[in-house]
Amino acid sequence: MADTRKTKVLIIGSGPAGYTAGVYASRAMLNPILVQGIEPGGQLTTTTEVENWPGDSHVQGPDLMVRMEAHARDMGCEIIGDIISSVDFSKRPFICQSDSGTVYEADAIILATGARAKWLGLPSEEAFKGFGVSACATCDGFFYRGMEIVVVGGGNTAVEEALFLTNFASKVTLVHRRDELRSEKILEDRLMKHPKIETLWFHEIEEVYGTDMPKGVEGVKVKHTKTGEITDLPCKGVFIAIGHAPANELVKDVLETHMGGYVVTKPDSTETSIPGVYAAGDLTDHKYRQAVTSAGMGCMAALEAERWLAEQE
Ligand code: FAD
Ligand code: NAP
Repeated sequence: MADTRKTKVLIIGSGPAGYTAGVYASRAMLNPILVQGIEPGGQLTTTTEVENWPGDSHVQGPDLMVRMEAHARDMGCEIIGDIISSVDFSKRPFICQSDSGTVYEADAIILATGARAKWLGLPSEEAFKGFGVSACATCDGFFYRGMEIVVVGGGNTAVEEALFLTNFASKVTLVHRRDELRSEKILEDRLMKHPKIETLWFHEIEEVYGTDMPKGVEGVKVKHTKTGEITDLPCKGVFIAIGHAPANELVKDVLETHMGGYVVTKPDSTETSIPGVYAAGDLTDHKYRQAVTSAGMGCMAALEAERWLAEQE
């Protein structure tokens, strides 16, 4: 028979939003359970230096998330390594099924499932995923020591990935579809000054090509966005850094979403369209998508859940 765990507050997700909600809900004596999901610690575990977390001029993303987890645990949050596979918000208590077979029954839910990397959607990109095509420089950069690498994108992630990959690569080419970056100026300056980095403006990846035996990338064909001209760019690694989409799979059919799938919350609140269900962090935030704003929303969600639960009693 399936194991059933009952809780006043179930927090789904272990990024800055989830762990902050865990701290606040624990301190409100709600004995929350937090389910970590497939990526314990969330997106910051895929990066290196974080320079904009208040109180730390330099902190490694994975270290920061270990500290957040320990903080939530210290306050009394029960943290479980499991993945929620489906939710039933049609009646209360809310029911969440999980991959482990455990059924979680909760009076209130805090959704903090964050966001996941976007891909270009090319068949050749799919074919070489894990064999030269990656969306995580911290995870895979080491494999490209002394090789040429292409990074695709023009936001903070692309610029940071390009800079980080210079630790390994002989040369990094940043391919961007416009001639203007949307990254922070401090990062742009570092990129432009870096001797190992070249920029290729107004270009998109047309195709990733390589060998089958052994499977690996040999280069990309890039297309000029204005002239349509195709050129060949030899490289061994292709890092796709074109942004992230909200991880809304659990709730996209039951909660209102907008702007490409972000969960809608009431103004100045984390309340969703279902009373007792709250959403925090990148799952709901199409605008800021920062660790500190996610943590702020995690705090709001726990405080709102606490007040709502008190009203129900
Ligand atoms: P996430 O961090 O995305 O975490 C989502 C969590 O939900 C994960 O733990 C996942 O396992 C869990 N989850 C998902 N589905 C399920 C499920 N079905 N069941 C259970 N759990 C589930 N921001 C900054 O402020 N400064 C930076 O320097 C910075 N650098 C970044 C570098 C990179 C490479 C990236 C990708 C992002 C960076 N960001 C940075 C953005 C920042 O990481 C995000 O804004 C922040 O992590 C969002 O937090 P979150 O809690 O909403 O979700
Ligand atoms: P982003 O800001 O949304 O940028 C995505 C980039 O990829 C854009 O330059 C976009 O081009 C390009 N792009 C999107 N789809 C494309 C496609 N199909 N083909 C080619 N190019 C495509 O995403 P992000 O850089 O991942 O950042 C996400 C959030 O995390 C942001 O809020 C960011 O500030 C935050 N973050 C912060 C830090 C930091 O604070 N240090 C670090 C990383 C991330 P256009 O510009 O033409 O639209």
